[in-house]
Amino acid sequence: MIEMDKRINLTGLSQAELVSFIEQTGEPAYRGRQIFAALQHRRLQSFADMSDLPRALRERLNETAAASTLTVESRYLSEDGTRRFLMKTYDNLPVETVFIPEERRDTICFSSQSGCPLQCTFCLTAQLGLLRSLTPGEIVEQVIIALNDAYGLGEKPPRGTNLVGMGAGEPFLNFDSLMKAVRIMADPQGLFIVPHRITVSTAGVVPRIRELAAIPDRPNLAISLAAPTDELRDELMPINKKWPLEELLGACREFERTLKPGERFTFEYVMLDGVNDSDEQARQLANLLNRHELHARVNLIPHNQADPLPYQPSPATRVEMFKSILESKGIRSFVRRPRGRDIFAACGQLAAVTQNVGLRVVEV
Ligand code: SAH
Repeated sequence: MIEMDKRINLTGLSQAELVSFIEQTGEPAYRGRQIFAALQHRRLQSFADMSDLPRALRERLNETAAASTLTVESRYLSEDGTRRFLMKTYDNLPVETVFIPEERRDTICFSSQSGCPLQCTFCLTAQLGLLRSLTPGEIVEQVIIALNDAYGLGEKPPRGTNLVGMGAGEPFLNFDSLMKAVRIMADPQGLFIVPHRITVSTAGVVPRIRELAAIPDRPNLAISLAAPTDELRDELMPINKKWPLEELLGACREFERTLKPGERFTFEYVMLDGVNDSDEQARQLANLLNRHELHARVNLIPHNQADPLPYQPSPATRVEMFKSILESKGIRSFVRRPRGRDIFAACGQLAAVTQNVGLRVVEV
């Protein structure tokens, strides 16, 4: 295990920070840029692989710094090509990342926390509780590991890469680290994944929605709703007691006003059979969004089952009916196709599951 308290994780530094770290060790600035490119562009995960650095420098770096801190414990491959990585932090906490191949692009779903403090009743991650928030380096590293696994070390991705902050954790309870990771990943000399290719999902941390509204270079935003009334939302997503729908949708309205061309803003609505999927609830949801003058699209996500959770996914016909009611009231909506359900990689299934996931386990 790496003793991280003594070493600095270089994947969590911006290019400028890395340059000044290197200068402090008495090395010239260009070495800092070289190491940044090695980590973020060539996606190298050890100093030993950086053969263009002098051996003495590599040895010194090994004593004071780390080029990677996450280790992949297991890797699960779905029938649909989705891959789930179960990783461990240096202090032995689980981190999960999902790679979702699509025809025209690939999507990497990263986690912002190990576990999650929110107690959404339909989500398996809630059962872990919060273990801790991830550092910027740990967020960036998940993307590096997934890309290297999919394409080979440092190989250029053949398609575009989109990122979604929809893995374990509440990204807006780890806002500063998240935004720092977003800035690092945008560097043209590094991963070069720009904010408009990133979507971050929140259960509704209102102050951070307002904060994001004031940031010019920002990721796209998604808001998890799950219920059209406070009464039901209080029950399904306890965070609603702190920031109820009026307040949340007020902040959403303000955010929507700041949208620039090309930016995406969406709602997510997990469909739970017999709980939040009636015709009446579709009308309530449409009226609620219309009353707040919100134009964002609603993504309907059929519930992904997870054994201890007391819910069933809404039947496809119910989802279609719900969607057509929303649309009849002018709300655009879209039914999201679940990916990686067979390997516990789908929304709400990330709980560091290591057993009972069938045949396609690939240990690395
Ligand atoms: N904490 C953030 C990020 C997690 S995103 C948030 O709540 O937005 C995960 C998305 O998956 C959320 O929209 C959530 O509502 C949805 N989700 C959670 N559990 C699910 C499940 N079992 N089936 C389908 N979707 C689920």
